[in-house]
Amino acid sequence: MSGKIWDFAVIGAGMAGASIAAELAPHARVLLLEAEDVPGYHATGRSAAFWDECYGGPGVVPLTLASGPYLREHGFLTTRGALHLARAEDSAALEEFLATFAGTGVTIERLDRAAIEARVPGLRPEWCAAIHEPACADIDVAGLHQHYLAAARRGGAEIVCRAMVQRLARTGDGWRIGTAAGAEYRAARIVNAAGAWADGVAARAGVAPLGIRPFRRTVVQLRVDPPAPADLPLVLDINGSFYFKPDGGRLWLSPHDETPDEPGDTAPEELDVAIAIDRFEAVTGWRIAALERRWAGLRSFAPDRLPVYGPDPADDALFWFAGQGGFGIQTAPAAARLGAQIALGLGPDAMTQSIDPAVYAPHRFRP
Ligand SMILES: Cc1cc2nc3c(=O)[nH]c(=O)nc-3n(C[C@H](O)[C@H](O)[C@H](O)COP(=O)(O)OP(=O)(O)OC[C@H]3O[C@@H](n4cnc5c(N)ncnc54)[C@H](O)[C@@H]3O)c2cc1C
Repeated sequence: MSGKIWDFAVIGAGMAGASIAAELAPHARVLLLEAEDVPGYHATGRSAAFWDECYGGPGVVPLTLASGPYLREHGFLTTRGALHLARAEDSAALEEFLATFAGTGVTIERLDRAAIEARVPGLRPEWCAAIHEPACADIDVAGLHQHYLAAARRGGAEIVCRAMVQRLARTGDGWRIGTAAGAEYRAARIVNAAGAWADGVAARAGVAPLGIRPFRRTVVQLRVDPPAPADLPLVLDINGSFYFKPDGGRLWLSPHDETPDEPGDTAPEELDVAIAIDRFEAVTGWRIAALERRWAGLRSFAPDRLPVYGPDPADDALFWFAGQGGFGIQTAPAAARLGAQIALGLGPDAMTQSIDPAVYAPHRFRP
């Protein structure tokens, strides 16, 4: 064990850990510990790669909107647009969607069948209405993740892979951290950015879990005939039973599954793949020429489905940065800036001034 005492040891180098390490590094000595051989193997490397203003609900909108300018300025967004499709029997869901997001600052508009057809050729006739989100964009997930890892390194952070944190012993002035590989580190504070493993990391630190649970989400890559148009919007069911979007001449399709799972290297189930295809065939007349690829990842949610940023109420030497659910990429810039500001005791800046940190504080679960 070196004698060095880090100000922060960030546990997990997915999008959450990489981004907060980058924001902390200019101000503090930061160690970033990742269990896998390379960062990004779990949820971060398996996302569907979109930035959608409404995704995650109104409680997530402030984080998504605050992240937009940073993502755009750095070239990580490519506008695609999104359509939330509805049939005649879904009119109540459509109205509810509009009411839910009224006044949140998102840009949404109702489209009729003719306008939908112009965007989604081959759509089956029963899909007669939609809500359009013109600002929805593809995100360069790998580019953003590498950007944050590079920024963390530039700021002086040390990134260690194959460093699965196994032991966390509280000392008078912080933590002794032991990895499965036998390395030992010392840090004043730990940042729990361990995604699906966040509750388990807290338990190792002797801190009560918050109830952050992983849920499996499946994606399949299809070759369709006719080929998926490159300018197709992200197409979602207003009731949340599928979404699809083009990627490099192929189509990425999800059945929007959300199956409780265990932290780990999750894999798709045949049934979810079959459900995805069945739902897709009810939307368009496109023929599926090949099922080329399938994958699944874990989306981790706190009990109220909002992320958790802040010191643990019982031990402020453990900082929660977890529960990023299905929106951890699109919210990364504002979340990381906000998390670092809270951890460092800094005030808000132009990016975070419209965000109420109390909404995401761990205190909401354990006052
Ligand atoms: C199929 C799918 C589609 C998605 N689509 C989108 C989307 O379109 N847009 C969007 O914004 N979000 C999307 N998401 C959500 C997004 O991927 C996540 O919110 C985000 O990746 C979470 O990042 P993270 O760093 O918290 O988790 P992860 O990327 O899982 O990182 C956690 C890391 O912690 C490490 N770790 C765990 N325990 C330890 C330990 N004890 N010691 C050291 N390291 C440890 C793990 O190895 C892992 O690398 C999607 C997710 C899935 C699964």
